[in-house]
Amino acid sequence: MADLLVLGIESTCDETSAAVVARSPSGAGQIRSNVVRSQVEIHSPYGGVVPEIAARAHVEILDHVIAEAMRQANVSYQELSAVAGAAGPGLIGGVIVGITTAKAIALAARKPLVAVNHLEAHALTARLTDGVAFPYLLLLVSGGHTQLLAVEDVGRYTRLGTTLDDAVGEAFDKVAKMLSLPYPGGPEVEKQAAQGDARRFAFPRPMMGRREPDFSLSGLKTAVRLEAERLAPLSEQDVADLCASFQAAVLDLLADRVRAGAKAFRDRLGRGPTALVVAGGVAANTPIRESLVRVAADLNTRLALPTRDLCTDNGAMIAWAGAERFALGMTDDLTVSPRARWPLDPAAAASPHARA
Ligand code: AMP
Ligand code: MG
Repeated sequence: MADLLVLGIESTCDETSAAVVARSPSGAGQIRSNVVRSQVEIHSPYGGVVPEIAARAHVEILDHVIAEAMRQANVSYQELSAVAGAAGPGLIGGVIVGITTAKAIALAARKPLVAVNHLEAHALTARLTDGVAFPYLLLLVSGGHTQLLAVEDVGRYTRLGTTLDDAVGEAFDKVAKMLSLPYPGGPEVEKQAAQGDARRFAFPRPMMGRREPDFSLSGLKTAVRLEAERLAPLSEQDVADLCASFQAAVLDLLADRVRAGAKAFRDRLGRGPTALVVAGGVAANTPIRESLVRVAADLNTRLALPTRDLCTDNGAMIAWAGAERFALGMTDDLTVSPRARWPLDPAAAASPHARA
C-alpha cells in the first residue's frame, strides 16, 4: 500500500495555514510542507483577534497559502488521497472560509473530504511528531482551551478535566494587557518573567491539591490585577516581578493538575498513559516546557512535546488528523457544517462547566 497524501487547511483563529502530510501504512508521518501565515500584525492594534477581520484576512490569502503548500510539497491535486479542513471549533467566519475551500478542492479534484476537529488535530499531533501509541494523556493549553484528556484512539477522547473559567493562554494574555505589554501577551509575559523575581509575590494557585483534574485561572489573574493596582505606577522591575510571580504560579498549578490528570487517567483506564503529550500555544513557553519535563519524569512516563511551530495552530496537524481518520475510512460528505463549538468529548460537554 502506498503512503497517503493529505492536504490540510487551518483557519479557525488567526493563523491561515495549509500543509501536505504523508502517512505510511505503518502509521509513520512526514510533513511535506507546512505554510503558516500569522495574522498577529493585523490584530495587534486591537489588542486581540477581531473575528470579522480574521475571516476577511483568511479569504484574502488562503488560496495563495494552499498553492504554496502544494508547490513546496511538489504534489499535484490528483496525487492527493484526501483533502482535510478544520471544521471547528473556532471563530465561525474563519472556519467557514477554510472548510468551504476544502470542500471546493475536494469536489473539483474528486477527492474525499475529511472534516477535522481542530482540538482533535492538536490531540493527534504527537503521533505525527513522536509516533506516540494510544492511550496517552493530553494536556491542551491554548488561548481558548485548557483541558486534560485521555486520548484512547482516533475519535475516542475522554475529557478528564477542564478550566472552570479562563484558559491558561487567555490568562497570560489578560495579565499582559493589564500590565500594558504588547499583544500577543503570552510570549511578552515570558520575556518579562525571565527578568523578574518569582518570589516577590505569593499569588494563589487555585485548585492545587484537588482530586478532580480541573483548572481555574481567574482568581490568580485577579490577584495579579489587584497587586498591580496597589503598586501603580509600575516600575519596569514591578512588571517583571509580577510576570515572574504569575508564571511561577502557573507552573505550579499546571504540574499539580497534570499529576491529578495522570491519577484520573489510571482510575479510568486501569493503566498509566504511554506518554504525556502537550499541545497548544502555551506549550511554546520555555519554563513551562522545562517544568513538564520534570513532571513526566516524576510520573515515569514519556513526554511528547511537539516543536513550537507544531504546538501553535498549523495546517500540518489538520492534514495529519485527516490522514489518521482517512486511514480508518472516516470521511465526510460535502454537506458537513462548520461549527463554532465542537467538544471532543460529547459526554463532558453536557456538564455544567463545559467550554469547548
Ligand atoms: P493557540 O490558542 O494554540 O493558538 O495559542 C495561543 C495562546 O498561547 C495565546 O493565548 C498566547 O498568549 C499563548 N502563548 C503563546 N506563546 C506563549 C508563551 N511563550 N508563554 C505563554 N503563553 C504563550
Ligand atoms: Mg489552537
